[in-house]
Amino acid sequence: MPLFYNYGDLSNTSVRVFLYHAGLAYDQRLGNQPLKSKGNVNLHKVQALSFQRECCFYCNTPFSDANKPERDHVIPMKKETGGMHCWGNVLYCCRTCNVDKDKFAGDWKEFLISKSKMEDYKIWSEKYGNDEELSNIHAEECKQIYSELDTYMRNKVRDLL
Ligand SMILES: [Zn+2]
Repeated sequence: MPLFYNYGDLSNTSVRVFLYHAGLAYDQRLGNQPLKSKGNVNLHKVQALSFQRECCFYCNTPFSDANKPERDHVIPMKKETGGMHCWGNVLYCCRTCNVDKDKFAGDWKEFLISKSKMEDYKIWSEKYGNDEELSNIHAEECKQIYSELDTYMRNKVRDLL
């Protein structure tokens, strides 16, 4: 468990917890094996890496011992984007692409387009489900969770003074 020093740390974590559980519920509804047990995570990984032909989803560099796959939430699990922890939203990429994607500041669509991967992503997300509209709704809920927790904690601390 990480240590929290800033109000934002806990608010960001709570957003991720919400999107994690929203994803488990979403997968359950669709009949996918929710990505919470090691077995299900491995099952998903095998399917995803096979779909990606054992290469980084974004740059097509083959994975190896020196280039290990890193899990990526295509729609980022952030309050701005509301991406869920679910089958259709998780693929694997290399370290370089993971870092590059972060620089796009949450504009995941622009990143996919820059890598010519929108069509491949649609094939994957239509197979396993990833509802962009729902993610947008979740983003609004996340902003509320973030703001309410932040206010709650600041008020609690103020009461100590
Ligand atoms: Zn890559």
